[in-house]
Amino acid sequence: MVCWFLNYNRRGLARIPFDGLTWNSDKSHYDNRSPFNSRDSHHVCINEELSMSKDIEDYSERALRERISMHGKSIYDRGLTAGSSGNISVRLPDGFLVTPTNSCMGRLDPDRISKIDALGNLISGDQPSKEAFLHHSVYKVRSDANSIVHLHSTHSVAVSVIADIDPNDVLPAITAYYVMRVGRLPLVPYYAPGDRALAAAVEAMAKDAHSMLLANHGPVVAAANLDAAVYATEELEETAKLYLLLRNLPIKILTQEQCNDLKTK
Ligand SMILES: [Zn+2]
Repeated sequence: MVCWFLNYNRRGLARIPFDGLTWNSDKSHYDNRSPFNSRDSHHVCINEELSMSKDIEDYSERALRERISMHGKSIYDRGLTAGSSGNISVRLPDGFLVTPTNSCMGRLDPDRISKIDALGNLISGDQPSKEAFLHHSVYKVRSDANSIVHLHSTHSVAVSVIADIDPNDVLPAITAYYVMRVGRLPLVPYYAPGDRALAAAVEAMAKDAHSMLLANHGPVVAAANLDAAVYATEELEETAKLYLLLRNLPIKILTQEQCNDLKTK
């Protein structure tokens, strides 16, 4: 099955196939001749689609660049990321925008945000984040994902290193909004920065979950639009904080019936 980019203007959706491309970390571009090219293997788009309107229908590329910068500053100002860590992306008709390498989320310049085409070539802006392959891995298998946020946020990272968490679903259903915005949160095993195996692990996990936690690293959250991706990431961080606060207390989590009911909200 082929995944698609969707056109982002108001002239209607234009579907552009996007498959068989692989991020080449050595060359910082996609390489469709790579041995990792999985044109004949794992390009299965999940059927359970994220709802909500898509940025690509509502905003121009210029507006998306400004919105990435606005959200980046908000995230940075509230201490959800530090230094030059974390990255944000938004899907375009033929590629995606992603925050540049070594950029501070609090001081993003919309004009310098990296624009990557479907072949992995840098079209404009600075060199992309070295973690852009995480975004590519998710976009490749989730046609419903139009924006991705990856942070090294403190409480989420803290939870990711706890020894006895459930790798299939790291956090309990503490609140309704966590269940609705994040849902199941699988743990991706630890890989060193730059390890190509991380891209494959994220791609495999993304087929069944739009949110995931990288062990000893941080969350990767995809959503139908930028606002939703940011809000879900924030909900995840707050729930991780609650979980740590409650670690040694008897707690009542939402029942399976209550969680099922939220799926209809
Ligand atoms: Zn990271």
